[in-house]
Amino acid sequence: MAIEFRDLKKQYEYLKKDMDAAISQCLLDGRFIGGDPVKKLEETLAGYVGVKHCISCANGTDALQLALMAWNIGPGDAVFVPDFTFFSSGEVVATIGAAPVFVDVREDTFNIDTESLEDQIKRVFEEGKHKARAVIAVDLFGQPAEYDRINLICEKYDLLLLEDGAQGFGGRIGDKKACSFGNISTTSFFPAKPLGCYGDGGAIFTDNDDWAKLIRSYCVHGKGSNKYDNVRIGMNSRLDTVQAAVLNVKFPIFAEEELDRAQEIAGLYSENLKGIVITPTVLEEYYSSWAQYTVRLKSKEERDSLQEFLKEKGIPTNIYYQKPMHRQKAFNKNHYSEDDFSVCNYLVERVLSIPFHPYMEDNVVNEVSGMICKYGK
Ligand SMILES: *Cc1c(COP(=O)(O)O)cnc(C)c1O
Repeated sequence: MAIEFRDLKKQYEYLKKDMDAAISQCLLDGRFIGGDPVKKLEETLAGYVGVKHCISCANGTDALQLALMAWNIGPGDAVFVPDFTFFSSGEVVATIGAAPVFVDVREDTFNIDTESLEDQIKRVFEEGKHKARAVIAVDLFGQPAEYDRINLICEKYDLLLLEDGAQGFGGRIGDKKACSFGNISTTSFFPAKPLGCYGDGGAIFTDNDDWAKLIRSYCVHGKGSNKYDNVRIGMNSRLDTVQAAVLNVKFPIFAEEELDRAQEIAGLYSENLKGIVITPTVLEEYYSSWAQYTVRLKSKEERDSLQEFLKEKGIPTNIYYQKPMHRQKAFNKNHYSEDDFSVCNYLVERVLSIPFHPYMEDNVVNEVSGMICKYGK
């Protein structure tokens, strides 16, 4: 059987009975926007994460944008974003007219480097062109960023903290869950994320009542007392009822089974691949939701030829990410010194994400590992 990079069909087979019933119920109810499934999901997720408010929306990119809108960030403001992440994390900053300032990452965890963050903050203060307003920290590949250190920096420079937990949902540091670390935190329910729906979806988490209220308004055309009373310029960003119903079926299995199985698979990969490639580092007390299992090779040549070798053997892989944010053409009007991104520049040439999902059997994990070892010999 073909090996899938992330097998969503297996999960559906496992959940089919409950899933079909939940989707059918939405069709029978004839209600497709809002309603009980959305309300139930928001309550469940807020309780799980341990924050007061969960507001669902159309996708993880909107979730980030809505957070920045609630903080009234815009032209003249600077927001700090890791250089090694999915495009959205920086895109939203530019969408609302603010300036993304990219920050280098740690080689071992792939997450924002706190020394580089402080350097970039100081630079923005010294240049005096933009007002430093917020940091977007990303929980890349499932592992939370270093929030203890990031919080100290945010306090020192009076910056707001936005946690991009699109890949991090289900992760934690000690007992504190991902999507509870930011002043506002966000996630994505894109199908391939740790908790994915059957289309696009996203959510925003916060303990702050005022921001929650503002975001609920921005989500629905800047509504006042109702959707035809518009008190601010907003967006149309809601989670469909059917997607909420899908997530209500998936969530208990995600929390009770899939996260534990993901730990086992990651453990097995790391055991099999030790000394062959550089396996992922998870910090002490940190717990990853394993959105990706990403290894590093010693050079671009090695990485590219391993990818080619695996492809020939029918094993799909992906390069997350091929290009640093600071080199994306869309951001080209910014001027950067390549020296500021030595780690990210190094990583983009050496990372390789291999097949990973909680429905992988041990023998498949061993087969993929075996091929990588065979190549390494
Ligand atoms: C997927 C992702 C997003 C965007 O989520 P969408 O639901 O696809 O809009 C944002 N940030 C990161 C880090 C992501 O991986």
